[in-house]
Amino acid sequence: MAADETKQVQQEQRRAETLARLWEEFHRLNREFFDSALTLDEIRLSTRKQYGGYYKRTGKSAICPEERHLIVVSWSAHQEHGWEETLHTFRHEVAHIVHPNHSRAFWALAERLGCTRRYALPPAARPHAYCRYTANAPSAGRAFSAVND
Ligand SMILES: [Zn+2]
Repeated sequence: MAADETKQVQQEQRRAETLARLWEEFHRLNREFFDSALTLDEIRLSTRKQYGGYYKRTGKSAICPEERHLIVVSWSAHQEHGWEETLHTFRHEVAHIVHPNHSRAFWALAERLGCTRRYALPPAARPHAYCRYTANAPSAGRAFSAVND
């Protein structure tokens, strides 16, 4: 097997492991804080750098009658900042399943879930303006982005 092919396989393996750990964390949070009542359909690791992560709710439309909950976490940010930072971002996004905006109730919940800071570490290769969490709530009639500062 060529060297870069081996590297690619290792990358994919690391991504799969990280995804498995995020699902474990979701189930732990769900059991401990929500009586397993939260729904999450998909966790995705994205190679885009513009955000640490975001939560998206889609569905309940004519085309898609089922509501779907998705959390996207930046793989680049994970590689740059490590697991603790990814965990921090992930817990922030889990809190968005309950509160779509950055209300006081949101921050109280995020803190309970173990978010110790309000700010995501900026990706090293990007200016500070790219350091943001975003939350999309199409069910509210429009998408919105919330810069966390
Ligand atoms: Zn947020």
